[in-house]
Amino acid sequence: MPKCTTCGTTHDVDSLVRHERGNLLRVHCPDCESPMGQYRNPSGR
Ligand SMILES: [Zn+2]
Repeated sequence: MPKCTTCGTTHDVDSLVRHERGNLLRVHCPDCESPMGQYRNPSGR
């Protein structure tokens, strides 16, 4: 599971806050809303 480097909590990938921006998918920590990574949006193009 990914660990937030800001507040130190670990979360299921499914519980992370997701924001789609264009063809990028960004995930945020649900506790402190720090960005935890960004990925190519698999459903975008
Ligand atoms: Zn956090």
